[in-house]
Amino acid sequence: MMFQGKALKVTLLPDGIAELAFDLQGESVNKFNLLAVAELQQVLDLLETSSGIRGLLITSAKEVFIVGADITEFGAVFAAGPDQVIGHLAANNRNFCRIEDLPFPTVVAINGFALGGGLEFCLSCDYRIASTAAKVGLPETKLGIIPGWGGTVRLPRIAGLDTAVEWIAAGKENDAESALTARVVDAVVEPAKLHDAALHCLQQCIAGVFDYQARRTQKKSPLQLNFIESMMAFETSKAFVGAQAGRNYPAPVTAIKSMQKAADKGRDEALQIEAEGFAKMALTPVAQSLVGIFINEQLLGKKAKGWEKKADKKIGRAAVLGAGIMGGGIAYQSALKGVPIKMKDIAQKGIDLGLSEANKLLSKRVERKKLTPAEMGDVLNRIEPALTYDGFEQVDIVVEAVVENPKVKKAVLAEAETKVGADTVIASNTSTISISYLAEGLARPENFCGMHFFNPVHMMPLVEVIRGVKTSDNAIARTVAYANAMGKKPIVVKDCPGFLVNRVLFPYLAGFAMLVRDGVDFQRIDKLMETWGWPMGPAYLLDVVGIDTAVHAEKVMADGFPDRMQRNFTSCTDALFAAGRLGQKTEKGFYNYALDKKGKPAKVVAPEVADIVKAGVQVTADISDEDIIARMMIPMATELTRCLDEGIVETAAEADMALVYGTGFPPFRGGVFRWIDSIGAAAFCDMAAKFSALGSLYHAPDSLKAKAANHQKFYG
Ligand code: NAD
Repeated sequence: MMFQGKALKVTLLPDGIAELAFDLQGESVNKFNLLAVAELQQVLDLLETSSGIRGLLITSAKEVFIVGADITEFGAVFAAGPDQVIGHLAANNRNFCRIEDLPFPTVVAINGFALGGGLEFCLSCDYRIASTAAKVGLPETKLGIIPGWGGTVRLPRIAGLDTAVEWIAAGKENDAESALTARVVDAVVEPAKLHDAALHCLQQCIAGVFDYQARRTQKKSPLQLNFIESMMAFETSKAFVGAQAGRNYPAPVTAIKSMQKAADKGRDEALQIEAEGFAKMALTPVAQSLVGIFINEQLLGKKAKGWEKKADKKIGRAAVLGAGIMGGGIAYQSALKGVPIKMKDIAQKGIDLGLSEANKLLSKRVERKKLTPAEMGDVLNRIEPALTYDGFEQVDIVVEAVVENPKVKKAVLAEAETKVGADTVIASNTSTISISYLAEGLARPENFCGMHFFNPVHMMPLVEVIRGVKTSDNAIARTVAYANAMGKKPIVVKDCPGFLVNRVLFPYLAGFAMLVRDGVDFQRIDKLMETWGWPMGPAYLLDVVGIDTAVHAEKVMADGFPDRMQRNFTSCTDALFAAGRLGQKTEKGFYNYALDKKGKPAKVVAPEVADIVKAGVQVTADISDEDIIARMMIPMATELTRCLDEGIVETAAEADMALVYGTGFPPFRGGVFRWIDSIGAAAFCDMAAKFSALGSLYHAPDSLKAKAANHQKFYG
């Protein structure tokens, strides 16, 4: 053994070949944390001064190669300022350049994930041999930053500018075959043959069959593009990528700009340009939010796995009651992810609809080559349509998704309870009815909880798992395990009107109703909120949710929180409901809808709505854009704070992620609490105070005032 550290070890193989293996102790994956960077430096000191080494083979002792830099270390590094960020990058860039300058060839065996810094390390080696299990990519722009350890420098010089732009701007993971086609790796072999293949490649380099020096020269030289080619390629890609990413996500274009600026430079100057671009991005609020989201996601995953471990059994079979929009979607998702599911309805028509929906979604996947026709058949076979409860005694979980009517739901749940096993968990997908209330008629309320999916089920990642007063830990654990198995992001919340997401969404929509009452044009509000980052403005959102559904949910919220949610005026939503305009599903709501060329409902302005809305306008105040945004966002933020104070949700991180996953809250703002942090609790409280006459939705809770007084943040 030449070197044994806590992240790296080096052994000497026959014929003067050294093997450097990554194996970060105490972790399931390898990452480039500060320790690994420091050890790599020591290893290089050793390799450069040892005599008799003729080649370096680099491997991983774990299932992954290297998943990237340690993102949990970013916060402290970024907060220290641009010089420190550049210094942090330089330390590992020196390592990578030293790898590239070793007096013998280097070959890396990529056995699994090599992402971000992990792939950048591979790019600094002379040859890259990947196993078929490898997944490689540069996902930095998804975190609001750009590659900082040579990705923008080496990838275009190795694989060409088009590939580099595509890989870096999209930040996608690529499988081994695509990486081979893109010339990012040199060969792909079966996992069992990887070590031997990489070793063989190294021996060929040592024997002079492969010219590794030529590769080094190419990587260290300017990009081989003439002026015209360069102009065309960079200007076109900046325009295209800029339009795709949108103005709220500057990192992809910054990465291209760095490549452009460094195109005619040698390696060291190019790396400096990249580092400056990285530092510029790292200090943006966007990067802080996106890195925050990444860290929150890790927490969510850990909590979900923790619950899953507590479950008494894995979900082998499931059932859903009701084959409507939601039931059909749940059956599809469950079957797609491999959990067989019975789909029961009272009407054959319902079942036919549920099955045809699943068919449609699966056919699209086959068209996109994400599924073979045979696999599609297997998925469909996992959905067992039923008009009776036959076989329900064998299922581990039943999701109830019948019509949103308390009487019907109570009757269906009580009946289902007599048909299932004594330990079967029953979960309701109700969007508004109290879980504790629904549990009242059950013989085993401890086996019952909420499992609130969002529409459309296959697209929306969030599932709220709702604990009623009598729900057992095991019921929660099994339900979370089922959500995990379906590839969803479960968040456990306590029962209350609206649960978490609707409880904070409807105050936001109450803010909208008050603005329209005060004479603000709903289309102006939609545009402003979309510019603020929401995927759709509130009027459009109401159309998508359904005006009738919204009116019903508003009533539930008003009954549950009369002090904040009861209103003394007829809102624009009420007026549309009275006019029979129920939103997208009836092709008439705030907007009119007609199918576009792709068969998707497209909205157009409905001139007739102006009069319907005008009837409810009480004043025509002159309200600034800034105030409109404040009046929309404050009610959501105060209500979310109350949810955290009351323990409806356990952490600020989960609350923020629930909004990102469940409502499309702009990820570049990181969530409501991160948004409050970005403006400061004191500034937020001042802003709320300005609108306090609008009612208690605009009153900052005491906990927020305390944060303001003590200069505290939700994060850190
Ligand atoms: P839907 O009207 O599309 O489907 C309801 C289905 O239940 C129908 O096929 C009906 O035949 C069937 N049904 C009625 N009584 C039944 C019974 N006794 N046994 C079995 N099936 C029965 O409704 P949906 O939109 O799918 O909503 C279902 C549930 O999901 C509701 O509680 C709703 O609040 C909730 N939810 C809906 C959405 C949404 O956007 N649609 C989102 C989240 C949650």
